[in-house]
Amino acid sequence: MKFLLLFLIIILNCQNLSAVEFLGKFEQGSFILGKIKPNSKVKIDNKKIRVSKDGYFAFGLDRDRKNNVVIIIQENGKTKTIEKQVLKRKYKIQRIDGLPSKQVTPPPEVYDRIKKDNILIGKARSIDTPYDFFKDKFIYPIDKYIITGVYGSQRILNGKPRRPHYGIDFHAPEGTPVKAMMDGEVTLSESDMYFTGGTIIFDHGHGISTLYMHMKDIHVKVGQKIKKGDIVGTLGQSGRATGPHLDIRLNWFDVKLDPASILN
Ligand SMILES: [Zn+2]
Repeated sequence: MKFLLLFLIIILNCQNLSAVEFLGKFEQGSFILGKIKPNSKVKIDNKKIRVSKDGYFAFGLDRDRKNNVVIIIQENGKTKTIEKQVLKRKYKIQRIDGLPSKQVTPPPEVYDRIKKDNILIGKARSIDTPYDFFKDKFIYPIDKYIITGVYGSQRILNGKPRRPHYGIDFHAPEGTPVKAMMDGEVTLSESDMYFTGGTIIFDHGHGISTLYMHMKDIHVKVGQKIKKGDIVGTLGQSGRATGPHLDIRLNWFDVKLDPASILN
């Protein structure tokens, strides 16, 4: 009798709990895909986020995130709080010495240009659309490459600590065709930005965006819809680059994520 009662309690409890599924590691820099009953509401760290018609949502964890993530699910008037610990990562230290000082610290005459570039990039990254392309599997942007830079590495240029590197660098010959990693819409297409050179940003929905930099040629325009695998341009070394490579970035709004977390 006691067991039967316990069994019943378990069953009833299960019916009350919403089945939340997460895809992705709860670790620094990670992209997390969530699935919940359609028409539920989700808050991440007390911020309401979009849930797709079929119950998908996406968010990401900062490179240096220390505290737990608080996920609040609201379903049929019931609220459930999930707290997840975020695993810490060890990042590489990348020392580059002997760089011309102009390359380490930009000259004052380009400050305005850098500011304008940052505003454009920030605007594109703040776009929040109902697209739900992010829920599918992303592909690599080029076929043959050597990875020369990874997410999170702390850069020490000419002995001075600088901003960490937030992308993955794919080294390949100049002119190599570059593919879209996922369906999306082009929200930025600029041929000559100071740091990033030829730059494209794709919106994949719910604040998830990818950025490609140092492009040689760009074949897409703002507002254009693209399909995974479409050739969007060619690899180059435009902007501040030390050689031909494609640097890709992944963002959840302004949170910089590890592109490896959508590729692996
Ligand atoms: Zn890079």
